[in-house]
Amino acid sequence: MFDVVVVGAGVIGLSCAMRLQQSGARVAVVSPDGLEQTTSWVAAAVWYPTHTDADPQVLGWAGRTFDEFARQAAQGVPGVTMRATRMLLRRSTAPPWWTSVVPDFRCVPAAEIAAPYTGEWRFTVPAVAMGPYLTWQLQQITDAGGVLLTRRLDRLADVADLAPVTVNATGLAARRLAADDAVHPIRGRLMIMTNPGLSVSVRDEDNPAGLSYVHPRERDVVLGGTFEPGESDLTPDPDEGRAILARCTALVPELAAAQVITQLAGLRPGREGGVRLGLDPATGTGRLIHNYGHGGAGMTLSWGCADDVAALAA
Ligand SMILES: Cc1cc2nc3c(=O)[nH]c(=O)nc-3n(C[C@H](O)[C@H](O)[C@H](O)COP(=O)(O)OP(=O)(O)OC[C@H]3O[C@@H](n4cnc5c(N)ncnc54)[C@H](O)[C@@H]3O)c2cc1C
Repeated sequence: MFDVVVVGAGVIGLSCAMRLQQSGARVAVVSPDGLEQTTSWVAAAVWYPTHTDADPQVLGWAGRTFDEFARQAAQGVPGVTMRATRMLLRRSTAPPWWTSVVPDFRCVPAAEIAAPYTGEWRFTVPAVAMGPYLTWQLQQITDAGGVLLTRRLDRLADVADLAPVTVNATGLAARRLAADDAVHPIRGRLMIMTNPGLSVSVRDEDNPAGLSYVHPRERDVVLGGTFEPGESDLTPDPDEGRAILARCTALVPELAAAQVITQLAGLRPGREGGVRLGLDPATGTGRLIHNYGHGGAGMTLSWGCADDVAALAA
């Protein structure tokens, strides 16, 4: 018997499972597939509240997640680093709503900006190589006595006999499992390249040619990308891959010396109205806590949301 069963082994489910264990709970994690099948495995995954509204609750989640990753980077947790970033702007833009949680955020003076850009933000944020990180998270959970159950659920109620509390961290699958039509896929495509010696992230999100970002990691570089609501076909697209490579190389010319490792695609779990985190109002045999719909910011919000889930489960 467990205290909590967490359905889903992406970054949202695994972070919840760790927090719940840290608060003393006996935890089982349920997932039908290996970690590498999750959206989380594909994520770029750089701290940035992408496509999220200025909301005090989201700021709280983002800030607590920032602090947790900063601690993990200092402790040498696999895959976690702090990454210097340049955000290039093409129109007059006020500083973003989340600057209060990013200690070194600054706007570059206009005199230092070269065309076609009109502004630039510089800041340092957590960046995570998700393969090693998710593997570390699962190891932490099993080392602490947690159990991974390989099961694909037809209904969340199918695990209600395992524990008095169920956490729904099924990402996109929550559309069906929680009967929530607000959940929808947002396809993202990436190119993974060898790293020609880059160490700074560069973002040009309003590039008229398409969303452009370059995120160096220890062993490779992630080039993005696309943000395509409603698209769910994950078939590789060589033309899109070449287009991402071309606009990222225009942004960071050193990439001309890099080799393609692979092209990836994933489906962000988008949700109209934002993240759903809270107790299910339906009364049943146990408590059901939802935590899904993190869109393009699941890594960015993961630990703050896990804190709230642990508090609700207590
Ligand atoms: C290209 C791309 C780039 C991204 N970049 C970033 C970034 O830079 N920063 C950032 O913060 N976020 C980024 N994201 C978003 C991030 O990846 C997601 O928000 C996050 O991975 C969502 O995590 P999750 O755990 O909710 O979902 P998932 O990782 O999809 O996990 C869902 C889990 O539920 C399980 N499940 C599904 N159905 C069932 C069922 N029937 N029964 C049992 N279990 C089930 C799955 O097997 C899986 O284990 C990016 C995403 C993409 C695609």
